[in-house]
Amino acid sequence: MNTNSIQLYLDDSHLLEFDAIIIRSGIKHAILDQTAFYPEGGGQPSDIGVFLSGNLKWNVLKVIKRGNEIFHYLDKDVPQGIKVHCIIDASNRIWNTRRHSAEHLLTGLIENIEELPKVYSDLEKLEFQPSKLTEEQLTIIFNKFNEIVEKDLPVKIFYEDRSNINPINDHRKQAFLKKIPSNLDKLRMVDIGGYALTFCMGTHVKSTKEIGKLASLTLQEAKKNRKIIHFKLNN
Ligand SMILES: [Zn+2]
Repeated sequence: MNTNSIQLYLDDSHLLEFDAIIIRSGIKHAILDQTAFYPEGGGQPSDIGVFLSGNLKWNVLKVIKRGNEIFHYLDKDVPQGIKVHCIIDASNRIWNTRRHSAEHLLTGLIENIEELPKVYSDLEKLEFQPSKLTEEQLTIIFNKFNEIVEKDLPVKIFYEDRSNINPINDHRKQAFLKKIPSNLDKLRMVDIGGYALTFCMGTHVKSTKEIGKLASLTLQEAKKNRKIIHFKLNN
């Protein structure tokens, strides 16, 4: 039985309610025919929310993609074959989406200053090694980030043929491309206002104003020229 779900979140990061059929279920988990629940990945945590059917309610605690199947982990068992109305926790999704989009924009702005190998990033920090990034440069990035937010520039999602992408001299992107399954010819790209372009399957804001301004951006020096940049958005 084919239990691959239609991934609604890829086409619409703002879809927070939808109907679906439970096409397979097991102990406290279920696979839907289609889902807008984002499964954890790419540094972004999964959505949480609820399934509703009549007077019954299931809490969706975590969502994980394994191969092409998306597992929704629940607080109790759900019968296979029923239709459920699904509601994603909006504040959790929006907060994650804003911080994830901020992570892209910061990566683009920092990589633009000097060719720095990013070794890690999540919704609160980015790490570069080796890095010569200075406090002065960070102040420039902080101001530029907030200027881009103020300008409310569009965020574009589009699909690009793998053969058109040739990241010459960019070892990080070359390594990233190698990790994408070779049968995937069209890659989902995200462009944050023309300042950050990358391959990504995550959820993103529609324009930069939605991200909100940075409240703080701080530099922490670590061993072996590693620099950790902590960021916080205004709530
Ligand atoms: Zn992304």
